[in-house]
Amino acid sequence: MNRCVPNPGILDIAPYTPGKTPVPEPGRKVFKLSANETPFGPSPKALAAYKDVADHLADYPEGTSKVLREAIGRAFGLDPNRIICGAGSDEILNLLAHTYLSQGDEAISTAHGFLVYPIATMANGAKNVVVPETDHTANVDAILKAVTPRTKIMWLANPNNPTGTYLPFDEVKRLRAGLPPNVLLVLDAAYSDYVSRNDYELGIELVATSENTVMTHTFSKIHGLAALRIGWMFGPAHIVDAVNRIRGPFNVSTPAMMAAVAAIEDTAHVQMSKAHTEQWRNWLTEEISKLGLKVTPSVANFVLIHFPQAKGKTSAEADAFLTKRGLVLRALNNYGLPHALRMTIGTEEANRLVVDGLRDFMAAK
Ligand SMILES: *Cc1c(COP(=O)(O)O)cnc(C)c1O
Repeated sequence: MNRCVPNPGILDIAPYTPGKTPVPEPGRKVFKLSANETPFGPSPKALAAYKDVADHLADYPEGTSKVLREAIGRAFGLDPNRIICGAGSDEILNLLAHTYLSQGDEAISTAHGFLVYPIATMANGAKNVVVPETDHTANVDAILKAVTPRTKIMWLANPNNPTGTYLPFDEVKRLRAGLPPNVLLVLDAAYSDYVSRNDYELGIELVATSENTVMTHTFSKIHGLAALRIGWMFGPAHIVDAVNRIRGPFNVSTPAMMAAVAAIEDTAHVQMSKAHTEQWRNWLTEEISKLGLKVTPSVANFVLIHFPQAKGKTSAEADAFLTKRGLVLRALNNYGLPHALRMTIGTEEANRLVVDGLRDFMAAK
């Protein structure tokens, strides 16, 4: 052995491929609709709070993100002592995996689940167990069937990315009730702000009333602060205590913290973005369906569009066609969806251009 060797599992991980960053064709306006970013950017108040911190960049941040935990607590009615903030919810997911998984353990995620889950699982030497979905939706019975004595974590994005589907709260409760008590259920609520369904809940009640469920959330989506890397989790006291022991002492930067406080307090900005998303999600689903393409019903800020496999009409060809027009969607080959594209809901202009583009694509001989 004449060089260092990564831990077991590390080299089995397929590197994460982020949404394409478009290279503008000369004269083309480019719309990046590949990473579920908000077309509105952050609240102007968040931007002002961020700039205010510029005079204090030499100072270490307050290490427990206290002001932000308190702001989240006010917004959601939660005890700030049971919140942890992180550099994106990605950091939180990795901290959870690091706290609870080791070699020989198993963690379950669903067929078209978020790709950070297998990475966090395998990075800790554990086995990534993937269970089938029904109609691109998590299937509680399939999940429960996959549980073994080695299962330690169940990862569930609700709503899920990249499918846009969700589990009603009844089903989430049935999942929790069916999982052994030593299995940690991680409810990833990154897209919860976009959902308006009576039977949906983030899972706060479940976290508050059980010892083995956490909910993670992010400022990257509706709050438009993806560049600042800021996310959080709400969990039982014993989990918060364990995760805090391995969390870096200054894991959240002051600019991120202060911008997030202002963002969560600007409820008007959030409402505006939610209403826009809902209106255009309905419109896009209807218009794209009229073109003969199947759209998975979504409750999030993106839609999943399925393409035929006939030559000239495939998702790869549609992707190339739209990209030429400056419309950059997300191909999903590494999510097990090679015949679909995911489109983030954009401005009215972008949404109309995509439908025009798809109409021309479908009509082309
Ligand atoms: C975008 C996204 C997140 C947010 O990740 P951050 O690290 O907070 O930016 C979390 N989960 C899912 C499923 C996502 O799609």
